Amino acid sequence: MTVIRVTKEFKFEMAHALTNYDGKCKYIHGHSYVLKITVSGQPNRQQNNPKVGMVIDFGDLKKIVNDNIIEPFDHALVLSKNAKLAANLKQEYQKVEIVDYQPTCENLVIHFIEILQPLLPENIVLHHLRLNETATSYAEWFADDN
Ligand SMILES: [Zn+2]
Repeated sequence: MTVIRVTKEFKFEMAHALTNYDGKCKYIHGHSYVLKITVSGQPNRQQNNPKVGMVIDFGDLKKIVNDNIIEPFDHALVLSKNAKLAANLKQEYQKVEIVDYQPTCENLVIHFIEILQPLLPENIVLHHLRLNETATSYAEWFADDN
């Protein structure tokens, strides 16, 4: 049995503001996020299967992530439900995601894990997810830690 990890990288642009925060991220502003998703599993060994040799088809992983994370969050403004004008902003600009948490890099990672885990095929394990908020700042989730 040989377990292999495969990783796919995604990029999206997203605005947020941290309600009641005491630093610059209290202002509405944007980041160019980079999301790296690593899954693990055994490469398919069925010779007649079109996916032979693959842990998961990169295209399948791409579709899951694009449909469920990139589409809703790219070019969105993400605000906590505690942000006073969140509902008004959503009415005016449509693509405003109102979440029940402070939209920090860490909490976004938790949200993305919760979205992804139930969508992965049975034989694939989510191993690791990394979200860069800037080139030098990121949050990570590892299955081993949790
Ligand atoms: Zn920020």
